[in-house]
Amino acid sequence: MKIISDPLELKTYLKSNNKTVGFVPTMGALHEGHLSLIKQSKEQNEVVVVSIFVNPTQFLKGEDLDKYPRKDEADKKICELSGVDVLFFPHAKDIYGDDEVSLQAPNVRGYVLEGASRPGHFSGMLTVVMKLLNIVNPTRAYFGKKDAQQLNLINLMVKQLFMSVEIVAVDTLRESDGLAMSSRNVYLSKDERVEALKISTSLQKAFSMVNQNILDTKEIKKQMREILKPLEISYVEILNRDFLPLEFVELGNSIVLVEVKVANTRLLDNIWL
Ligand code: AMP
Repeated sequence: MKIISDPLELKTYLKSNNKTVGFVPTMGALHEGHLSLIKQSKEQNEVVVVSIFVNPTQFLKGEDLDKYPRKDEADKKICELSGVDVLFFPHAKDIYGDDEVSLQAPNVRGYVLEGASRPGHFSGMLTVVMKLLNIVNPTRAYFGKKDAQQLNLINLMVKQLFMSVEIVAVDTLRESDGLAMSSRNVYLSKDERVEALKISTSLQKAFSMVNQNILDTKEIKKQMREILKPLEISYVEILNRDFLPLEFVELGNSIVLVEVKVANTRLLDNIWL
């Protein structure tokens, strides 16, 4: 496995081969969820590039940028063992300059749900994803459905900016008890982790209500909120795949999304129905 930290060196290196390239951008502290993206990328491409970059511009003031889990050495080993061809480990100073050209998240879709509690987060995210895609120039790039709003905005960016990369959405990987895997789960104490299970339980409730043909989104959201008590709920929402509100669940075109705070940790999860 080659490890490169200089963006221009990586760009030159990848330009010199004519192979299909799969790209998996991450912020490190790799877990099985990341590995499923890497695995799918390996199956579909000749070369797999993973990036590890804790992007400062998508963290708001007071958020966990400084304490975000960093496991550089373990991550390198995991990538090596997973058959990653190139690991891109850039320094912030090589990604950002003093006077920056940057992307602005769309005014509506970028400022609802997670964007409402984290204004500017998605502008930072889109900017770094655009930079990384321009450096790697992949055939396909892999993103988790767990970050459904991020995925939606990236798809929108690729469409509206006429980019040629194919975005591949990968299913959410969960712990055996249902908790969605996340680098931030390490912040949870034992008791908080038990409380966090209310998130996947509430999503299972939505799933089983829809199975019983209860499609009224107000009713489903009410029952989900009951299950989530007493957690601090940022949102419980049922939207179509274009992120527009739904009165009734449309099978094959709906996403049920939850964001809660467990102690100081913000956790998101969703299911696609
Ligand atoms: P992160 O390192 O948290 O920025 O995540 C990097 C990529 O992995 C993003 O596309 C995430 O959506 C994806 N991801 C994170 N957690 C999971 C999970 N549990 N299952 C599948 N993909 C995930």
